Amino acid sequence: MELERFQQEMAKRFAEFDRESGPFFLMTVLTAELGELAEAVKNDDPTGVSEELADLIFTAVSIANIYDLDISNALEEKYLNKTSKEISKGWTEPYLGKRTDTL
Ligand SMILES: [Mg+2]
Repeated sequence: MELERFQQEMAKRFAEFDRESGPFFLMTVLTAELGELAEAVKNDDPTGVSEELADLIFTAVSIANIYDLDISNALEEKYLNKTSKEISKGWTEPYLGKRTDTL
C-alpha cells in the first residue's frame, strides 16, 4: 500500500478521533512506541521491530492528519530530492562538536 493512500484511509477512519485526542496525546503515544521499538531492537527481535515501526508510522501519520499535512510529499521533498550528504549533514554535526553556536 502506498503511503499516500494509507494516510487518506487513516484520515477517513481516525482523523476525528485524533483531533479530539490532540497532538500532545499522540506525542505521548509516539514516545511510548519509540521506547517499545528500542526494546525490540535491544532484543534483536525482527518481528517486534516490524510491529513497533508500524505503530510509530501509524502514530506519526495520525499527527500529520491533525495538521492536514501530506506526509508522502514531505518525505519526498525532505529525503528524495536531496543528496545523501545533504540529508546526513545535520545528523552528524552535533556528535562532532561543530555546532557550538547553537547551544
Ligand atoms: Mg507498540
